[in-house]
Amino acid sequence: MTLLLCSAALLIIVLYLLLRPIWWSQAEDDRVADPVLADLYAQKELLYNNIREMEADRRVGKFSNDDFQRFSKQSKEKAAAVLRQIDAYQQGIFLPGLDEAIETAIGAKRSVSLVGVSRVCSQCGAPLQPGDRFCGQCGAPVRREAT
Ligand SMILES: [Zn+2]
Repeated sequence: MTLLLCSAALLIIVLYLLLRPIWWSQAEDDRVADPVLADLYAQKELLYNNIREMEADRRVGKFSNDDFQRFSKQSKEKAAAVLRQIDAYQQGIFLPGLDEAIETAIGAKRSVSLVGVSRVCSQCGAPLQPGDRFCGQCGAPVRREAT
């Protein structure tokens, strides 16, 4: 009887250890699969790290209490804004200015891989900004060229 209980407990532990990384990696994949979410989560992590570092600095006296209050408040407000953006994005709500800001951020990354590619409108020939989805001149959809 004791042996049976031990076996059952062992089985549960083994299953838990086996399945846990799979759940985790699936959650990670969901994040990374969406560049907007991945970017927002990265921003959030960065801000949280900043706050943690500021708290550590204050403890060792590198930061005065006043400075800490001021800077950590800024970082916490930014982190809260990023969390609201993540929430809104997951619910499919458009936040004014957010889309543009994210497009700029993603465009900056994309432009690195688009070096050497002519970025002009295929309809009217107007120059395009990285991340543009539509031509600013004539409104034609921008074709994404692989090379
Ligand atoms: Zn055009």
